[in-house]
Amino acid sequence: MLANNPSASKTLWIKNPLAVFSGALNGPNAERDLAGGIVILGSQIIECVAAGKQPTVTVDQQLDASDMVLLPGLINTHHHFYQTLTRCLPAAINQPLFPWLKTLYPIWSGLTPKHIELATEIACWELMLSGATTVADHHYVFNHALSEAIDIQAEVVGRLGVRATLTRGSMSLSQKDGGLPPDSVVQTEQQILDDSLRLIKRYHDASNGSMLNLALAPCSPFSVTEALMCETARLAKQQGVRLHTHLGETIDENDFCVEKLGMRPVDYLEHCGWMGPQTWLAHGIHFDEREIQRLGAAQVGIAHCATSNMVLASGICPTLELEAAGCKVGLAVDGSASNDSSNMIQELRHSLMQQRLRYRADQITHHQVLNWATQGSAAVLGRDDIGVLAPGKQADIGLYKLDGLNFSGAHDPLAALILCGASQVSKLMVAGKWLIEDAEATREQLNQLKAQHHQLAIQLVG
Ligand SMILES: [Zn+2]
Repeated sequence: MLANNPSASKTLWIKNPLAVFSGALNGPNAERDLAGGIVILGSQIIECVAAGKQPTVTVDQQLDASDMVLLPGLINTHHHFYQTLTRCLPAAINQPLFPWLKTLYPIWSGLTPKHIELATEIACWELMLSGATTVADHHYVFNHALSEAIDIQAEVVGRLGVRATLTRGSMSLSQKDGGLPPDSVVQTEQQILDDSLRLIKRYHDASNGSMLNLALAPCSPFSVTEALMCETARLAKQQGVRLHTHLGETIDENDFCVEKLGMRPVDYLEHCGWMGPQTWLAHGIHFDEREIQRLGAAQVGIAHCATSNMVLASGICPTLELEAAGCKVGLAVDGSASNDSSNMIQELRHSLMQQRLRYRADQITHHQVLNWATQGSAAVLGRDDIGVLAPGKQADIGLYKLDGLNFSGAHDPLAALILCGASQVSKLMVAGKWLIEDAEATREQLNQLKAQHHQLAIQLVG
C-alpha cells in the first residue's frame, strides 16, 4: 500500500483539482488562489498554484487531479478505537448515556491487548478511508491485562503511518466510591500518574511535523476522583502536554456534578485547574451563557461530535456561541459504540444537518463544517502545522472522486462532497507519503484484518 511514494528529493504537483478548499474560512490562507493545485516536496507543501498558472519550482512528478476534489486531510479530535468491537450491541442501543455505559463497562473489562491492536488498526483504516490524516484516541479502559494499551496503539499508528494524538485516559472512581464504572476497570491515582509520565517521556514529540503527540485524559467527572483531575492538570502543565476529557455531554452529567461534587461541570473544571488553552473537551453541549463566556475566555477547545450526540439523544453543541466567545471548535466521530461508524467525511454532513436545527442555513455552510474538520480540529489539538493547504504546512491531503450515483447531476463539486454525502476518499497522503493510492485496492487488502476483528468482537461479547 505504500508503493510509488514520491521521493523526498522530488517535487510532486497535484495539478488542477476539480475543486479545492484550503481549510481556512478567512485570512490569507482563505484568500489565496490554489485552483491550480499544490506542490509537495518531502513532507511539506512548498507552493500553492493559482488558476491557469504553472508552479515556479521545477516539477519532477505530476498528478492530474482534474476529476478529484482536493482537501486538507481531515482531523478527528475524539474517538475510542476499542469501541469498534462493541458496535450495535442489542443490549446497549437505544439508550441514553448513563445506562448505555453501565451496559458496556462489564464487557469492556474483558478487553485484551489483541483487541486493542486490531481495534486500533480497524478504526484508523476506517478513518483514513474516509479522509482523515490525523486521528486522536481517548483510551481509558485499563483492566489488569491492558497496562500497555497506549504502547500498543503507538506501535499501530506508527506502522500505518497516520498522524496521531493518543491520550492516556483514566478511571479511578468506581461504583463502590460513588462513580459509574465497576471496580474491574479502574486504577489507583498513583498507577495512572506514573504510567502517564512514562508514556509522555517515551512517545510525546512536540516538534513541527510530529507524527505522535501524547495527552492526558481522565475519562469524565463521574469516573475519576477530584484528586486525579487536579494532579493530572499539574502533570500536564509540568510536561507541556494537553488535557482532554468528556464534559457537558448530558443533563445527567450536570446533575451528577451538582449532587456529588456540589458544583456544575465548568466550575469543577476551573476548581481542578483545567481552564486554559491546553484543554479540549469532547461534546461541550450543556453550558449556560456565562459558562460559554468563561470557556471562551480560557480558549478551551471543543470536539463537536454531532453523530454521537444525535445517537445518544444528548443535545446540540452551541458551536457558534462557543466560537464567538473564543473557543476553538473541531469535529470528531466519537467512539464506535455511540456513532457507530468512524466515517469522518460523513461526520461533516451530519454536523451541517444537526447544526441547522439550531442555527440558520446560511450560518452553517459546507465551508463551515470543512473548516471545523481541518483548521478548527488542528487548533483543538494544539497544532498549526496541519489542517490548511499552504506553503510550509505538512503535506496531509485527501482527494475525492465524485463518481458515485449520488453525485450525478451535482453542480458545485465542493458542496456536493458534503451535501450529496461522500463516504470515501480516492487517495490519501500523510506527510508527503501516499497511504491510500487506490481506495478499492486498500479495502481488498483489509479483508483479512476485518475478519479477525469481527471474530474477536464476537468472542468479547460472549
Ligand atoms: Zn467519547
